[in-house]
Formats: sequence, structure tokens, C-alpha cells
Amino acid sequence: MTAGKNLQIDGKRLWDSLMEMAKIGATEKGGCCRLALTDLDKESRDLFVRWCEAAGCSIKIDKMGNIFARRPGRNDDLAPVMTGSHLDTQPTGGRFDGVYGVLAGLEVVRSLNDLGIETERPIEVAVWTNEEGSRFTPAMVASGVFAGVFDLEYGLGRSDADGKTMGEELQRIGYAGAEAVGGREIHAFFETHIEQGPILEEENKTIGIVTDAQGQRWYELTLTGVESHAGPTPMARRKDALLGAARIVELVNRTGLDNAPVACATVGMMEVYPNSRNVIPGRVFLAIDIRHPDDGILAQMDGTLRAGVEKITGEIGLDYELEQIFYVKPVKFDEACVAAVRDGAKAFGYDARAIVSGAGHDACYMSKVAPTAMVFVPCIDGISHNEVEDAKPEWITAGGNVLLRVIVEKAGRAE
Ligand SMILES: [Zn+2]
Repeated sequence: MTAGKNLQIDGKRLWDSLMEMAKIGATEKGGCCRLALTDLDKESRDLFVRWCEAAGCSIKIDKMGNIFARRPGRNDDLAPVMTGSHLDTQPTGGRFDGVYGVLAGLEVVRSLNDLGIETERPIEVAVWTNEEGSRFTPAMVASGVFAGVFDLEYGLGRSDADGKTMGEELQRIGYAGAEAVGGREIHAFFETHIEQGPILEEENKTIGIVTDAQGQRWYELTLTGVESHAGPTPMARRKDALLGAARIVELVNRTGLDNAPVACATVGMMEVYPNSRNVIPGRVFLAIDIRHPDDGILAQMDGTLRAGVEKITGEIGLDYELEQIFYVKPVKFDEACVAAVRDGAKAFGYDARAIVSGAGHDACYMSKVAPTAMVFVPCIDGISHNEVEDAKPEWITAGGNVLLRVIVEKAGRAE
């Protein structure tokens, strides 16, 4: 099937919709704070639903509060082509992370309406609940339930810092839907997203063809030495837990560098006890995060970390407890869907490159139940999860155009 040259979205309308949505939860520094299942999240959902109904879509909401806006196909019994992302943000979030993937989907529907194009298959635009994992952990929990990674009770039972559960908060804001979560056939799933990293902008590429998503292992490590006076205790007699932590930070960093360019390895958090200027630290807690798109290499990095921690603590005379608290396997996106994204970028003459997603996305879980791929566009200086997160209108338009093409290709243009 060849899509005509006129197959384009209205980039200005998409941009204007993004800016309109960004008013909900707008922060002083120009970002957004729209935590999952708050009144602001409800407001953004209501606006999305209003826009979709105005574009002729029917709305269904499932028990996890996931919203599906559906544009019927000529053969409406066929499995839908789905696209979407999330409307929730980090506390200091931006105007594009997630919401771009949702509104790009809506723009595809609006453009198809304008162009008078009917598709064989129905098209659904999805809003996934609580992608960020900021108010309720874990992240991507509702697409996870949809994909069968978590069960429904687990999802609804997640609670925030005040002990309010997702189930209660969905009821409160009126988004505890009746539909079963998942368990239905999806013909293909596409998610459009800002890169949240610097690669595309640095290389002057407009489109990232996302082939893989990083596997991740998260750890908690507690090092235990002996607190003692910083003056009278000779250097040779110390069991300094913070010295061990410092060497482990270096070890983790080196593990990332040794597996460059796609590996990432981070110590993002450290708590020092008793954290007093004249006491040798007796205990340090660290959070470690390692990522790689190849599960075998990720396992090697795990081995390097474990052996290194054993050696470093042995040298200093520390006890330790190392626990892996989170593990997701790398994701390989569907070849045909990835090829569709590549062809879409080529059709518009956009500079594009293959890229690995360093972050988790709803598409990662969706890839377990549907052929899936992602479209990345650059963001300014690679900054995201930050109020200054920004993108150029032409990038936003380009990603929307590619999404329109891949959806029409997968849904089939009814001639
Ligand atoms: Zn996101």
C-alpha cells in the first residue's frame, strides 16, 4: 500500500494542543506537575476525552483507568492498531514526556478525519495510567497489567505516600472503568516519545527508529563498618563504610564505561550514617542502577559488580548486603513495525537513525502482547524529567507524520 504525498498531520494543531494541555498543572518554570490520579490528572483526562469525542471517537475505560479512544475501521471486528502514551508527569516534569505520544495519536485521528481517509482496521489512542511511577510505584504499572506482567489486584492496590491506593483514587476521580484490562488482540502498537537523551539532537537527526529498550537491574547495597572518632582512630584501624562506597561508585561507573556506548551504570542515591563530620562513617546505603540492551552483557555487568563489591569490602573489612530489587529484560521491538517506522521517516525525507531507548516506556510492556515499535524525536539538550524540557515544533510535527504513516500502513487504507 502506498500512502499519498498528502498524508500529513497538522503540525500546528498538534503543537497548540500540547500547549493547551500543558496549562493543566503548569509550573512557574514552564513545566508541568500532573501526578497520576490527582485532580489535575483528571482534568487532563477529561480534556483528552472531550477532544477525542469531538473527533468522532468512542471512549472506553478499563479497570486500571487506561483510556482507549477508538476511531472505527471499515471492518470494525478486526483487531485495532493502537498508539498512545501517558498524561501523568514527574513532580518537576515537562510539557512533552508522555503527553506527546497521546496527542500525536489524537492528531492522527484528526488528520484522517480531515483527509477523509477510512482505514480497514479500527485505530485506538491509549492513555496509560501512572506511567511515571512517581506517585505510585512501580512505573508503567497499568500497561503492565494490560500486558499480563502484573495482576489487577496488585495494580489497584499500589499505594502512595499517604496510603491512598490506585483503586481508591481511580474511583475518586471517576476513572475506574468497567472494561477488562487487556486480554484482547492488538494488531500493532506504536508509541511516539521524546528521546529524553542527547543523541538525536547532537547528530542532527529528526527521527529515532527505536530498535531496542535497555534491560535494567536495580540494586540496594548496605555497607557496614565501624563508627569511630575521626581524630584518635589511626588510618590503618578504620572500617570506613564511606570509603567502600566511594570505591563502589568508581566501580559502577567503570562498568558502564567498559561497556560503552550503550551501557549505563549509576549510583543515584547514598545515605551515610551517622553523617557527622568527625565520625568515621559506620554504615552507607547505596542505590545502584545498571542498564544494557543485551541481556548477556547485562549479566556480565552484574557479575563484575558482585565480584567488585566482594573485593572492595574485603580490602576495607566491611560487611555488606547486596540485593537486586528490580530486573527487566531488554526489549527487542518487532522487526516489521521497526521497518515501518524506518520507511515512514524515509518517505518524508527525515534524517533518521536507529536508537536504543535508555528509559522504560509503556511500549516495552506492550511489546509482550502486540507487535510494537517506537518513534523518537529529539528534545533540546536531551533534557527530560525537568521543567525546562523542550522540543522544536518541526520535530514534533515530524514524529506525528511518521506515526500517521505507520498507522495507516498497519490499519490499511480503505480504498
Ligand atoms: Zn514518558
